[in-house]
Amino acid sequence: MAIATINPATGETLKTFEPLNDAEIAAKLDLAGQAFEHYRWTSFTERSHWLQKAADILEQEKADFAKLMTLEMGKPYKAAIAEAEKCALVCRYYAEHAPGFLADVPVKTDGSHSFVRYQPLGVILAVMPWNFPFWQVFRFVAPTLMAGNVGLLKHASNVPQCALAIEDIITRAGFPPGVFQTLLIGAAKVADLMADDRVKAATLTGSEPAGASLAAASGKQLKKTVLELGGSDPFIVLASADIEAAVVAATTARMLNNGQSCIAAKRFIVAEAIADKFEKLLLNKFLALKVGDPMQPDTDLGPLATPDILQDLDQQVQAAVASGGKVLTGGEPVSDRPGNFYPPTIITDIPQDSPIAQEEFFGPVALVFRVPDLDAAIKLANATPFGLGASAWTTNDQERDRLIAEIAAGSVFINGLVKSDPRLPFGGIKRSGYGRELSIQGIHEFVNVKTVWVK
Ligand code: NAP
Repeated sequence: MAIATINPATGETLKTFEPLNDAEIAAKLDLAGQAFEHYRWTSFTERSHWLQKAADILEQEKADFAKLMTLEMGKPYKAAIAEAEKCALVCRYYAEHAPGFLADVPVKTDGSHSFVRYQPLGVILAVMPWNFPFWQVFRFVAPTLMAGNVGLLKHASNVPQCALAIEDIITRAGFPPGVFQTLLIGAAKVADLMADDRVKAATLTGSEPAGASLAAASGKQLKKTVLELGGSDPFIVLASADIEAAVVAATTARMLNNGQSCIAAKRFIVAEAIADKFEKLLLNKFLALKVGDPMQPDTDLGPLATPDILQDLDQQVQAAVASGGKVLTGGEPVSDRPGNFYPPTIITDIPQDSPIAQEEFFGPVALVFRVPDLDAAIKLANATPFGLGASAWTTNDQERDRLIAEIAAGSVFINGLVKSDPRLPFGGIKRSGYGRELSIQGIHEFVNVKTVWVK
């Protein structure tokens, strides 16, 4: 895949980049290794100061960063502004809380004193996706650098200018040279990086095949990985729910980021008793969405990021229809304009056991399933290989408690849409990956948890 900026709203190639050659990669690895030797001994005060400065830059220049995100991957400009702001938030969160998260933890034992100390591991590689081109990186950068590790970024090949802008932010924030570097390389180079002694661990956010490939490469080297992979999150609406509120959240949860979010609601599992009303209200909401130029402030839905994603989604919709699905709206790519546009789409009546019902739809397509009761809702919610997040809507306490206990996913949100928040751990189970980002759990992924016992 070429490393290039291709505007998804027009199909125009705006800028291409030569990938780094082997000598250039080796030089960056050297620099990262050397940077770690002194950076690991810097104080929390220094690291916090630099990270707060990064947050200042993100806030002051959010309009420029937002334009870059929208240009490279097509998310609506207003969402890109919010993304830059959220990156500042995660920087400030870890600047403030990391010293507490990583403080020595005393433990009473038979020693005169004993404690747990958290120490950095070294160079950590981040393989990142294009869908949240800033947020995915900053939620790695903030805890990783606060812990005293140094970072290398292999960003998705379609967002090179975002990748370079992030390196520039970290440099301007005052972090020492080599503490964070962007590598403009293709995916084929990742296994070599994992084999390099200086790289101690890696995190990948992306598809299942990419995750499996990184896990295999790091398995050979016995190096730790965190994987944040796909999802087909259920959005369950039970008969007792506030349906109007659920429909508003359902629309946002499906259309977020032009439908290309791992934690987007993808399967709407609705109690039979309220299903007609839910479908009607959802249809009205989808029809009211403004599809168009993502740079315009009033656009709700922009293009998909690449022609391949558009083609894959189109094939999935056709497979859903072939399996018995009924299209309530949308169902075909937008043909009267250039770019990778797909309209808001609702499909009902897909047989629950058909293979297509198990797949992740990475675009603005809502699959609606009807269920007779709570048991059937939970069973269907859990009937995919994924386990990232789940949103469930009910006003009944017993139902709520069963949903919390029985949904097989890394998170359950009751009467709200699934979202990431620096204060809460984020990650999945099953084929959605392993390990956690954000919160205290995220910063503990890439540290040596050192046991100290003294007599
Ligand atoms: P992708 O193709 O897997 O790309 C993600 C990153 O992995 C890119 O940097 C890509 O580089 C790299 N990559 C691809 N194949 C690789 C391989 N064999 N070895 C090493 N690196 C490889 O994923 P995507 O299509 O961009 O993103 C969509 C997927 O990501 C969806 O399934 C979505 O649900 C998931 N996602 C998950 C989360 C989460 O937190 N769980 C968040 C966002 C997205 P190139 O660009 O150079 O190919």
